[in-house]
Amino acid sequence: MNSEKKFLTSFDKSYSANIFFKKPDKYREIENHSRSNKNIITIGSNYSYAPMGFDKNSLAIDLSSFNRIIDFNLDKKEITVEAGLKIYDFLKFTLKYNLWLPQIPGYPFITLGGIVATNSHGKSCGTHGTIRKSIKKIQLFHKINGWLDLSENENKEIFDLTIGGFGLTGTIVAITFKLTELESGIFETHTEEVKSFEDCYKKISDDKNEKTFTYSWNRADSIKNFGTGFIYKNKLNSNNKTNGYLREIKQKKISSFLPLSLWNSLSVNIANNIYYKIQKMKKNKLNEDLIQVIFPYIGRESYFKLFGSKGFIESQILVSSKNMRMFMDEFLNIFKKHSPVITLFSLKNMSGEHNYLRFEENSVCVSFDFTNTKKNMEFMSLVDKLCVKYKAIPSIIKDSRLDKKTVSDCYIYYQDFKNKLKNYDNKRVYQSAISNKLDL
Ligand SMILES: Cc1cc2nc3c(=O)[nH]c(=O)nc-3n(C[C@H](O)[C@H](O)[C@H](O)COP(=O)(O)OP(=O)(O)OC[C@H]3O[C@@H](n4cnc5c(N)ncnc54)[C@H](O)[C@@H]3O)c2cc1C
Repeated sequence: MNSEKKFLTSFDKSYSANIFFKKPDKYREIENHSRSNKNIITIGSNYSYAPMGFDKNSLAIDLSSFNRIIDFNLDKKEITVEAGLKIYDFLKFTLKYNLWLPQIPGYPFITLGGIVATNSHGKSCGTHGTIRKSIKKIQLFHKINGWLDLSENENKEIFDLTIGGFGLTGTIVAITFKLTELESGIFETHTEEVKSFEDCYKKISDDKNEKTFTYSWNRADSIKNFGTGFIYKNKLNSNNKTNGYLREIKQKKISSFLPLSLWNSLSVNIANNIYYKIQKMKKNKLNEDLIQVIFPYIGRESYFKLFGSKGFIESQILVSSKNMRMFMDEFLNIFKKHSPVITLFSLKNMSGEHNYLRFEENSVCVSFDFTNTKKNMEFMSLVDKLCVKYKAIPSIIKDSRLDKKTVSDCYIYYQDFKNKLKNYDNKRVYQSAISNKLDL
């Protein structure tokens, strides 16, 4: 049996610890390893920004050897896969049949177990919602409760707790997905300039075209140009069918950051000016392939490295249309006072029904990346208060800073999730650094 000890750091660099790992490659080993430690947690590719898949006191079960396609039914458009399979390898298979999952997140080396456990979303979440919409069945192993089949018809309560349940209900071993047809592997990207946050918000929230994936890039490097930028609309180009095609890409080590941060107010301003000029010069209609559209960080990994060893914080927040203007007015007031260093600001639509700790609701998703400085942390704690005041939902997997009070105030089903989890597993076996912090 393989077992090793590794020094592990979360993607945002907020948390590091020496972790004991077990890497089962047989079903029986999942059972044996799970029984070998009091607390455990399953780890995927560790691409959650926050430390969701490990903790200093938990044995980490690494499921990367469980990466096979178990069953595929073309007529029913259903596939059953093991949870350690990575998105890239999954797509290489399904795209041969012009099928995919429109809710896959923006990095191809993330595991399918990881996307289910975090209820991830993709570019088109305004249309396709979160991965929950494509999950038919889950096979789960729990140290005390044993092997469970989960679906709408079987163990429904545990099924619901497991999707977006951060691995706290046990190890997801296999998943059956309902696949969606993809008309083409080529997208026509339309770019439109926006003159302010208001302009951008109106255009994004008015965008109801089901076939376009719309999101924005906005500046936040000064109050003067706050919100200016571009909206990108990726439309499937059905005249350009490219069955079975997925460009070859290699997995790069994006988690090793430089020793010092090169992002500061000056460098962000320069980078934003350059990016703006390039976008203005580009044609406002061009063809892009699936990798460029769905995985925008491929080829741009150095963006993360430039944050240095102190890392960064991403704040991704769902804000309802009713409260967006008031939320942003107050956000801008504190922005003026604190001048935070924001390296990325973006908007996209989100759809779905909020429940438990799932980052899902009919609303607009606002994302900001911050450098990890004292000034920015103070600014962000004021943003937390805005989230509570305006009933906005901050993402737990992205923002490791969030404390129990903010999460329990913003997530109205926090206590319900916690009670049901405790009822299912009163020893609370599965624990990560974040579940401990949030008292789950
Ligand atoms: C560059 C980049 C872009 C991203 N873009 C998006 C995006 O567009 N949308 C989005 O929603 N997210 C996005 N993410 C976040 C990412 O999708 C999630 O954090 C995802 O969970 C990471 O999966 P992982 O395999 O790395 O799992 P890990 O980070 O290792 O684990 C994540 C969680 O899943 C649990 N887990 C993993 N595998 C299993 C399993 N087999 N059984 C039970 N629990 C399990 C872990 O316990 C943990 O709670 C992005 C991340 C990066 C680095």
